[in-house]
Amino acid sequence: MTATSAAYAAYIVAALLFILSLAGLSKHETAKAGNAYGIAGMAIALAATVAVATEDISIVGLVLLVVAVVIGAAIGIWRARQVEMTGMPELIALLHSFVGLAAVLVGWNGYLSVEGVDPSDGGPLLTGAEAGIHSGEVVVGVFIGAVTFTGSIVAFLKLSARIKSNPLMLPGHNWLNLGALVLFAVLTVVFVIEPNLLVLSVVTALALALGWHLVASIGGGDMPVVVSMLNSYSGWAAAASGFLLGNDLLIITGALVGSSGAYLSYIMCKAMNRSFISVIAGGFGNEGSAAASDVDYGEHTEISAEDTAELLRDAASVVITPGYGMAVAQAQGAVADLTRKLTERGVEVRFGIHPVAGRLPGHMNVLLAEAKVPYDVVLEMDEINDDFASTSVVLVIGANDTVNPAATEDPTSPIAGMPVLTVWEAERVIVFKRSMNTGYAGVQNPLFFRDNSRMLFGDARERVEDILRAL
Ligand code: NDP
Repeated sequence: MTATSAAYAAYIVAALLFILSLAGLSKHETAKAGNAYGIAGMAIALAATVAVATEDISIVGLVLLVVAVVIGAAIGIWRARQVEMTGMPELIALLHSFVGLAAVLVGWNGYLSVEGVDPSDGGPLLTGAEAGIHSGEVVVGVFIGAVTFTGSIVAFLKLSARIKSNPLMLPGHNWLNLGALVLFAVLTVVFVIEPNLLVLSVVTALALALGWHLVASIGGGDMPVVVSMLNSYSGWAAAASGFLLGNDLLIITGALVGSSGAYLSYIMCKAMNRSFISVIAGGFGNEGSAAASDVDYGEHTEISAEDTAELLRDAASVVITPGYGMAVAQAQGAVADLTRKLTERGVEVRFGIHPVAGRLPGHMNVLLAEAKVPYDVVLEMDEINDDFASTSVVLVIGANDTVNPAATEDPTSPIAGMPVLTVWEAERVIVFKRSMNTGYAGVQNPLFFRDNSRMLFGDARERVEDILRAL
């Protein structure tokens, strides 16, 4: 058996492992196994690809390959060891940008080694329909890659708070996006008929600008969908590279990532009552909702940890709604201890998890599972929302946008229409946060000023530990 046919067999095994990985990652209980399948699949795919590459590679090429693998692995291990759970979304966005950049480079390499070869140096390597298909693959691959690249960089900057999460609303922004797509279609036809450096350069610049504009136009509240959308784009960019490189595994893997990312985005849009088309079209239909509301909601009332402990002691039922602040404070261990202590005292304690709480899908579920909170008391938003009216105390631990009544009550709010946890219906709401600052979407929260709300200021973990001591 040659290295190439052995590699094909390995590719099939790797593709199956990737499918098992996706299936495993869809449930808490099987997520670890899903990860293991993914790692095994990637190890096999990498070994097979390197084995094929080394069949007819020069010694210089081999050295470059080894150096690239060592540098890439060193950076990957270093970043993975360093990253905090709260920094995962921005790291993922940055990694998507690498996939996009790789697709752009593969596309350009495809052009330079085929269409860009001077006929006097031996003529074009491809002719007829084959040449047209190759040119199409180049231009589409470069376009998707470049959109993914700049889109992911803007997402990285927004998620890491290096730039504001407010949507950029250029005049006629929808027309700009539409115009860019029409121009791309025209340039694709021109490039397929007569491939040339200028057209490819214009397509690259156009796609870089479009990717940047699409994500810049999306508001903070819609960022979760954008992250999974970029995940999907990175898959399609990889698949496009697979066509150019003639690598079947890259096509399969790219299509798996592309379609699962698109499906996840669709589910998130449904959960957040957002139009899928509106989000992928860069905030299409968002006009007028960019301004944060500056309404005066009155005074807020504070409470101490001791008084909160007193309330919890007398409560019949408690619902905890965690958010991004719980991850920042790393309060999940203390929250799990509080849950155990209250349950032992006969208080019914449950959790209400918003689909976009935290900064990545399933963020809160992962933290609570890590702290060994039983799965059966962790409920989704739809499962808990009807129960708030009969709940004695709600503990909002570092959540803000996901419990903001403005989403349902103020049609002019930037997060209007987003379903939220209706915590204000409970008898008493205690909000754990450090200040009166807004959440990720930059919108003030009227919940903090309601008669039945009390603010417990400070680091969420320290405050929960204070309550534990007082109990
Ligand atoms: P928010 O980001 O709306 O609010 C978090 C709150 O936590 C802040 O108000 C902050 O207030 C508080 N906080 C921060 N650190 C601490 C700390 N150490 N102790 C106590 N409180 C703290 O969180 P939500 O989870 O409610 O909402 C998630 C937001 O993120 C949504 O807008 C969502 O769209 C967006 N998003 C979600 C993604 C996902 O996939 N889940 C991905 C990208 C964005 P203060 O500073 O005053 O302490």
